[in-house]
Amino acid sequence: MSRFWSSLTHDLKPYVPGEQPRIAGLVKLNTNENPLGPSPRALEAIRGEAAETLRLYPDPQALALRAALADYHQVRPEQVFVGNGSDEVLAHTFAALLKHDAPLLFPDITYSFYTVYCRLFSIAYDAVPLDQTMRIRLADYRRPAGAIIIPNPNAPTGIALSRAEIATLLEDHPDAPVVIDEAYVDFGAETAIPLVDAHRNLLVVQTMSKSRALAGLRIGYAIGNADLIEALTRVKDSFNSYPLGRPAQAGAIASLADDAYFRQSLAQVIASRERLNHGLGRLGFEVLPSAANFVFARHPGHQGAALAAALRERAVIVRHFAAPRISDHLRITVGTDEQIDRLLAALAEILGGPPATV
Ligand code: PMP
Repeated sequence: MSRFWSSLTHDLKPYVPGEQPRIAGLVKLNTNENPLGPSPRALEAIRGEAAETLRLYPDPQALALRAALADYHQVRPEQVFVGNGSDEVLAHTFAALLKHDAPLLFPDITYSFYTVYCRLFSIAYDAVPLDQTMRIRLADYRRPAGAIIIPNPNAPTGIALSRAEIATLLEDHPDAPVVIDEAYVDFGAETAIPLVDAHRNLLVVQTMSKSRALAGLRIGYAIGNADLIEALTRVKDSFNSYPLGRPAQAGAIASLADDAYFRQSLAQVIASRERLNHGLGRLGFEVLPSAANFVFARHPGHQGAALAAALRERAVIVRHFAAPRISDHLRITVGTDEQIDRLLAALAEILGGPPATV
């Protein structure tokens, strides 16, 4: 608190990201990073940009990257917006598209940045409760809405809606912007991108942080009709003309070009997720069906906070949310098989059961 702060600053409730501790030997399963690393071709392209040309500003319109994304997703470049991580793309989306007279709707258990943006941009919202099984019930969204934003798969539950269900949501709300945050879609859900041509109100947001293992490069993007993209560009150009540097643009293009690496690493994460599910199940955890690179699990006999603390003592970090309805859950990133083994061994020790073999 300071008398030098604006009233806006006083009223903010900033998002608290998962910690990034620097502890040797730590098993870090708290921020959904991809343990397999980026495509070697992306790394080579990034290194190629560590050159004298860094004295020059990057392309403010990121035309080459937008063309590559358009090609990859079978849309036109004017249907693509890029930003510094999908968090920035989402921030511009909230400012550009989600403030209306009727409230913005999103699930009560969801990405906690949404309420932070609502506060920053003074957007009225209604948090729509998930059902008892932690699923989104589309019927609950059949009410007046200024706009809707839903992650698919949802975070932190990992549960996905089908593309047909997203189409129903769009048909229910033809006059409201509907944003689908697909940060984790590549790990097992259906993208809504094929719906953008038929639904002028749909914006799909994706990131290269998770499935492409480029969280440190900060590449997010949105795909939708050109008039939605123009709204985002107007906000972006009122904020920062150059959100993506030269290494970021080049690395993102090279990652898209290396589809074989992408497919192979997705398959590996998905296989490890099933291994993690199985191991947690054997230890007595209830695990929600995940289409993401994390699982959301609770143990009927143990409190979430206590489990997270006991894991931390064993140098394993997972995400725990001290929030209503989910305070006994742990969100666990799918790590390497070796990391999963360390997690399961630590849990077995904490629960006092037999060592988990998977
Ligand atoms: N959406 C969801 C649902 C997320 O969990 C995250 C990661 N915290 C993001 C968006 C933002 O990811 P990034 O800014 O790295 O693209």
